Amino acid sequence: MPEKPQQNWKELLNQSILQSDIVRIFDYLLTVGVEEGASDIHIEPFENYCRIRLRIDGVLSELVQYPKSFHESIISKFKIESGQMRPDEKRLPQDARVSVITQSNKEIDLRANTLPTVRGEKLVMRIVDKSKKIPLLKDLGIEGENMNLIRQSLAYPNGIILNTWPTGSGKTTTLYSCLADVNKIEVNITTFEDPVENKMFGLNQSQMRSDIGFTFASGLRSALRQDPDIIMIWEIRDQETLEMAMESAMTGHLVFSTVHTNSAVETITRVLQMGAERYMLAGTFNLVIAQRLGRKVCSHCGTKVSVKDHPQYNYAKRTFQNFDQDLLKQEIKLRKITQEQWSDFFSRWYITSGTGKDPATGKICPVCGGTGYKGRMGLYEMMNYNEDIKKMLLDNKPVFEIGKYAMQHGMIDLERDGLFKLMQGHLDFNEIYRFVKIEK
Ligand SMILES: [Zn+2]
Repeated sequence: MPEKPQQNWKELLNQSILQSDIVRIFDYLLTVGVEEGASDIHIEPFENYCRIRLRIDGVLSELVQYPKSFHESIISKFKIESGQMRPDEKRLPQDARVSVITQSNKEIDLRANTLPTVRGEKLVMRIVDKSKKIPLLKDLGIEGENMNLIRQSLAYPNGIILNTWPTGSGKTTTLYSCLADVNKIEVNITTFEDPVENKMFGLNQSQMRSDIGFTFASGLRSALRQDPDIIMIWEIRDQETLEMAMESAMTGHLVFSTVHTNSAVETITRVLQMGAERYMLAGTFNLVIAQRLGRKVCSHCGTKVSVKDHPQYNYAKRTFQNFDQDLLKQEIKLRKITQEQWSDFFSRWYITSGTGKDPATGKICPVCGGTGYKGRMGLYEMMNYNEDIKKMLLDNKPVFEIGKYAMQHGMIDLERDGLFKLMQGHLDFNEIYRFVKIEK
């Protein structure tokens, strides 16, 4: 790997701590956070010292410690600069949203929250890096039949595409990538967001203000008078929004939204609980996507390891056995999995795993810092509302039966998608079975 000549921001941060230079600590901290690709910065006080942790690729790690004596000044500085927090109020949590330019010249948005703890105030800042480009759908890691399904659903003139998500699973990125894919001069796209994270050319984006009655439901109502083709609603949380979304889809619009569930099948249960009628569901749903973000095996220190007796290897093998064998072959082909990757997994019991050690020197891997992982990759589960599924919904079939039917007919769920990516050398068992429940 060629070394890039760049400022050593971490070193500058350490120096500013040694010099108790509060102003610079903050500037360098934000810059380190952004340059390291952190999603959140935690500044937290303890009995005798304070520490700063960064969340990178979904996992927290310690960046630096500093003396407790200047913790209060650090928090006060942020409160004053934000212009939205009261520095003298230390007993209640406070929120702020600010735009900042880092020392490395990147424009970021910060969503910050202070929380009083028994040892002082803790400050957490969520970083939204505005310079990050919206990835194309093909760069998200949507592969094989899942890619065919999403392409097909985006080409429909009407219906609902739902994304389900636990926090931090990257649904924002997926929704924006879908919008970027359909963003053309011929179509009118209106979005209702909370918050608007990326401003995209060509979209009509509205920031929700529930404090003054501008809610998802009222937004949807006005969207219909805005001659829309495509509508995106950030989240469906209540019956009113759900019904409005379904009506919009019924009247010829393509609707994107998200709902808070763990799996594509569970989404049926959730929307029925919210008061949706089965016939409306059958009449409007095109596709439900569930997703997680798994950490990728570090390409620098990743090496083939035998997993012959690994219990998770047996789960994985069983999953492939339960796959319709013709569909499995098709999927392998669609994903361009090579004969070697296939044999490595099935006859040589090899998978690729990060060692965390530099293969040349045996020291800590400089690319992943010894974790064995670098970057993240989406795992996707897609449930296609085809004619069979619609009929089962109308016939009042139980939800678990609908899910079972979809799996038997080749639905790629999180586990299946993850295992194909494991075969390709991108993910390991830990990252897949962190998200997938194993039924024994
Ligand atoms: Zn590594």
